[in-house]
Amino acid sequence: MAAQSNGNYSKYLTKIPEIKFTQLFINGEFVDSTSGKTFESIDPRTGEAIARVAEGEKEDVDVAVKAAREAFDHGPWPRLPGSARRRILLKFADLINENVDELAALEAIDAGKLFYWLKTQEIPQAAEILRYYAGAADKIHGETLKMSSEHQAYTLLEPIGVVGLIIPWNFPSMMFLMKVAPALAAGCTMVVKPAEQTPLSALYYAHLSKLAGIPDGVLNVVTGYGSKAGASISSHMDIDKVSFTGSTEVGRLIMQAAATSNLKAISLELGGKSPLIVFDDAEVDQAADLALLGVLFNKGEICVAGSRVFVQEGIYDRFVEKLREKAKTWVVGDPFDPKVRQGPQVDKKQFDKILSYIEHGKREGATLLIGGKPCGETGYYIEPTVFTDVTDNMMIAKDEIFGPVMSLMKFKSVEEAIQRANATRYGLAAGIVTRDLNVANTVSRSIRAGVIWINCYFAFDRDCPYGGFKMSGFGRDLGMQGLSQYLQVKSVVTPIYNSPWL
Ligand code: NAD
Repeated sequence: MAAQSNGNYSKYLTKIPEIKFTQLFINGEFVDSTSGKTFESIDPRTGEAIARVAEGEKEDVDVAVKAAREAFDHGPWPRLPGSARRRILLKFADLINENVDELAALEAIDAGKLFYWLKTQEIPQAAEILRYYAGAADKIHGETLKMSSEHQAYTLLEPIGVVGLIIPWNFPSMMFLMKVAPALAAGCTMVVKPAEQTPLSALYYAHLSKLAGIPDGVLNVVTGYGSKAGASISSHMDIDKVSFTGSTEVGRLIMQAAATSNLKAISLELGGKSPLIVFDDAEVDQAADLALLGVLFNKGEICVAGSRVFVQEGIYDRFVEKLREKAKTWVVGDPFDPKVRQGPQVDKKQFDKILSYIEHGKREGATLLIGGKPCGETGYYIEPTVFTDVTDNMMIAKDEIFGPVMSLMKFKSVEEAIQRANATRYGLAAGIVTRDLNVANTVSRSIRAGVIWINCYFAFDRDCPYGGFKMSGFGRDLGMQGLSQYLQVKSVVTPIYNSPWL
């Protein structure tokens, strides 16, 4: 398939990168899909197609799994000493840093994410995740056990096998490396399915993985739709584990598919409706900045968005005024423009969904404080939007909108804040702003969520496990817990004395 390019990246970008990789990556080669079908990848700044990408389906997943199985059962990767895998992963990370401009440009036009953020933060941080797990690759070991009988035992931590990694469109680079890096370090082989909205960077990473020396068949990428390529992965009889990040609805389908196929292990990172709780003793100016960032970062397309903001009554009015003032300075526009803080929503479907939630909020009686409309002449841009007078039972306070829409609510006491923050089916993250250590400790221990940020938000780190409580899923990415998702324990037992067989 011919490489494709878009002639109109941005007036802010002088070098126009070519879209070089649009085919499936299976067994170390770029190949067309078995059916020859392709699908369009759309630039959310314009709504126009920038590439046609191979549409993988069941047959392609089968070929990719066969390659991954062969690489796992007979190839070198799981058998290499950890130090050899470490060297290759470090090389992979270096190649990412060397190609960061091209990767950032590709992701900006595919996902509408901010070019400078991608170039200086997200992609370098994703490369650091590879280095983190590279450092762990030669430190994977079990335990020596003292058994109660006359036996001794030790445990081995073995790679879990062939893994299916299904990722969403909001952080295509970060999600790809968050799952691929620990799986590679553990010695697994894999089939990755990027989201159909953002397939381009995953194919570029596949190319770099080959240059880094990852053997053929270890890392395969099948682009395509969730209902076909994704579903074929979750129901596959020869995949040992699926790690999924995406919506709660699809998480449920993946669990069903695992249950009705080979009972494969799964981990699910799903949706959220995270609370940010601002107490009376907070510095209002800083708290308003944090709240805006909490819901507008990555155009609100982030599962841990602080989309329910609870503000204590003593500072509520001042907080509202600050928010109104600050939101005016938040620039929405071309993601290549260094002044811009919010690019377009990923696609028309997401754009329409967010606008329909905004209409719902108005109909349900919430007050639109800021925004609420699309903006820009082309593409899928939406104004930063804040609703006040929101009640807990409104749809905008309950559903994950996945867009730049904040529901602002007033509360009186610590107990009320805890109760209302927990009144959700989700449990991904929460934020607390206070100077009172007792309040911070009480609230952080009372909220049922996988990560609690005190006087900060979005403070992610490769060493800090990340995942959900309740219907936000189970299993953890990042940290050593992230590595353990790709390992399984084997116990080896032997008599200590007088073995009858010797
Ligand atoms: P989605 O669930 O529709 O898609 C995610 C991935 O699953 C895509 O690759 C998609 O092709 C695939 N998929 C879709 N249907 C499938 C099926 N039947 N079987 C197997 N795979 C299938 O989600 P989305 O719209 O791409 O992403 C937005 C959602 O993801 C939000 O709800 C958000 O909260 C969630 N999310 C969660 C996290 C987290 O870490 N918890 C991170 C990012 C996004």
